[in-house]
Amino acid sequence: MVDEEEIRKSVTKAAKAIFNKGLVEAGEGNVSVRFGRKEEFFITPSFNQYDSLQKDEIVHMNFEGEALSSGKLPSTEAKMHTAIYKARKKVGAVIHTHSTYATLLSIVRKGIPIIMEEQVIFLGGSIDVSQFGKAHTDEIGNAALEALDLKNAALLANHGVIICGKNVDHCVKFAELVEKLAKMYWGALQVGNPYNIPEENYKRFEKHFDALFACYARKKK
Ligand SMILES: [Zn+2]
Repeated sequence: MVDEEEIRKSVTKAAKAIFNKGLVEAGEGNVSVRFGRKEEFFITPSFNQYDSLQKDEIVHMNFEGEALSSGKLPSTEAKMHTAIYKARKKVGAVIHTHSTYATLLSIVRKGIPIIMEEQVIFLGGSIDVSQFGKAHTDEIGNAALEALDLKNAALLANHGVIICGKNVDHCVKFAELVEKLAKMYWGALQVGNPYNIPEENYKRFEKHFDALFACYARKKK
């Protein structure tokens, strides 16, 4: 059985990890982990102060948007996390950041084509930009889902990054990778014309993604 205390610890650890890697600043971004098979999850609190965050501040919520724990209010982006958990049953964790280079690309609405093979293995392919969705609404959840498609990362137009994965450790890794790719793509655009990897060269990595990191229902593909 999934242990509540362990989940609180894992959310706290992941939140501190993305903060220490410089992917979020105090008060922005959020991390959540699904509560086993229940229609519930644990999420970082609103206006999260990452450096002093304690596991007891993590908010337990259900898919109806109700907080099941007392204390802090949930992150204002909880609806976006709910939308992803509802639509993609295999997603075990969600991370949202405003990491600099990825957000920069989201502002010029430039998605990241397949420029590195690891992108296919970990994220499932290109990183697309969503439609603009108003923050803190269901609208941004739907926009995020559409841009994610069957993959693990997308850019939220003029906002930041949305990541999903089987577990929260995967999500931390993916959040880091998205920022690295964004930085490389941005840099490559400064010095020349970036080449994408042709499909016949990355096709073989898709099976690694499916076996190791994908979190979509099989029947969908
Ligand atoms: Zn945000």
